[in-house]
Amino acid sequence: MDFLKELNITDVNKGVSTGTAWLDAGGDVIESFSPVDGKKIASVIAADRASYETLVTKAQSAFLEWRTWPAPKRGEIVRQIGEALRKYKTPLGKLVSYEMGKSLQEGYGEVQEMIDICDFAVGLSRQLHGLTMHSERPAHRMYEQYHPLGIVGIISAFNFPVAVWSWNSMLGWVCGDVCIWKPSEKTPLCAVACQHIVAEVFERNNVPEGVSGLLIGGRESGEWMSQDGRIPLVSATGSTRMGKAVGATVGARLGRALLELGGNNAIIISKDADLDIAILGALFGAVGTAGQRCTTTRRLIIHEDIYEDVKAKLTKAYSQLSIGDPLDQKNHVGPLIDKDAVRAYLDAIEQCKSEGGKFVVEGGVLEGAGYESGCYVKPCIAEAQPAYKIVQHETFAPILYLLKYKTIEEAVAIQNGVPQGLSSAIMTLNLREAELFLSQQGSDCGIANVNIGTSGAEIGGAFGGEKETGGGRESGSDAWKVYMRRQTNTINYSTQLPLAQGIKFDL
Ligand code: NAD
Repeated sequence: MDFLKELNITDVNKGVSTGTAWLDAGGDVIESFSPVDGKKIASVIAADRASYETLVTKAQSAFLEWRTWPAPKRGEIVRQIGEALRKYKTPLGKLVSYEMGKSLQEGYGEVQEMIDICDFAVGLSRQLHGLTMHSERPAHRMYEQYHPLGIVGIISAFNFPVAVWSWNSMLGWVCGDVCIWKPSEKTPLCAVACQHIVAEVFERNNVPEGVSGLLIGGRESGEWMSQDGRIPLVSATGSTRMGKAVGATVGARLGRALLELGGNNAIIISKDADLDIAILGALFGAVGTAGQRCTTTRRLIIHEDIYEDVKAKLTKAYSQLSIGDPLDQKNHVGPLIDKDAVRAYLDAIEQCKSEGGKFVVEGGVLEGAGYESGCYVKPCIAEAQPAYKIVQHETFAPILYLLKYKTIEEAVAIQNGVPQGLSSAIMTLNLREAELFLSQQGSDCGIANVNIGTSGAEIGGAFGGEKETGGGRESGSDAWKVYMRRQTNTINYSTQLPLAQGIKFDL
């Protein structure tokens, strides 16, 4: 596997780094197995408490220097990272596909997303602007400005093993912050590879050691960051269970938490939909990344008049899916991340059946040649009811629930009637329905699309969701503001000291 060599992955890799220097840590050895073929790819030595302390101390001192670099100069470093990612797009995309299991196209797409956020952050580095406002006092000037926060702790999930880190780091770096990244313990090699790519750029430009920290480890190392008062912002992507724990711990010390958690995303298919677009959007949304995207389509809310037609078309489309090695571009669906995920998938199918669900496309685990890892499952479809417990729950696997509606108001109520609030969509050519869906009476999600599925967001918009999805926003738009602290400044250039609200105070 040449791509591993190209990315500096060896049999045993150090998992703690301050940028260009790799630390000797005494933590557990994390072995990375590919869900594609079940083979061990390599091992990584995780952090222990002592190496964590070194990382944080280095980050603190790096921040003192990094924050004094002009923002466009920091942007220039990010521009060079974008160039390096272009150079390594093919091997890094392959590693993402091999270690995580998503299709090669999606692996490349994930690296492209990193390149896109670099480009975005470079422009942003010249636009970190605040507002000016008119003072009520004569000869006074008032404005707001943004300053860097300090250390940003990044906790990321397995399903986007590289892009989510880049959303956070590239913005954090142009904002003048330093970052410590704790990737998922299920995809440590993707993180080691990214650190090597960044290190090349940092070394060439004499970036202070500590600006880019890597902390490989399990849940415990994420908890160290959540508890650590030296880390003003913890940006955590993962399950709602994890987000509740991180949110409570960071909140208890009045730190800032940016939470990007689970979704339970639905597409409403109206009787006025373009069904070709609707079926393709639903298909990619439900089976892409084997149902392991936070934005995966888990529920289809279908108008009763076209319900049978949509069911038949989807059933036919599912029969044409090819499941197998994601590095082979003829396959549409790769494996789940591990056998625990397979068990959760099987449990969800059983629960759905026990609640009364009827499978129109049956699930199951694939066996035999090409499926030796035991992680390949069949995408399946069940007719269900909105209130089923399993329908209310995010199962990170390709299980799609079909739900029926009569009126658009009922469809919106079903769409909103789950604890999560990440992504949503309506397929319709009816302007009234589309606008209702986007109005304040419509979708309650962070993302609401028309004639586009629920997954596959662009980096230009702010990304995130409401309710149990955690309320965080990352990536484009003004998401950068969470990585900075806001300061209001008032300057008096008069010869008097007038007080606000006309208060008199004279000796
Ligand atoms: P997970 O919650 O099991 O793990 C995510 C990360 O959190 C890992 O790095 C893990 O080590 C760490 N972690 C776990 N418990 C922790 C704790 N108590 N304190 C600190 N860190 C802790 O999630 P996963 O299985 O890797 O990923 C799948 C989940 O992520 C799904 O729920 C998916 O919807 C969600 N996700 C959300 C988004 C989003 O932007 N909303 C994006 C990707 C994934």
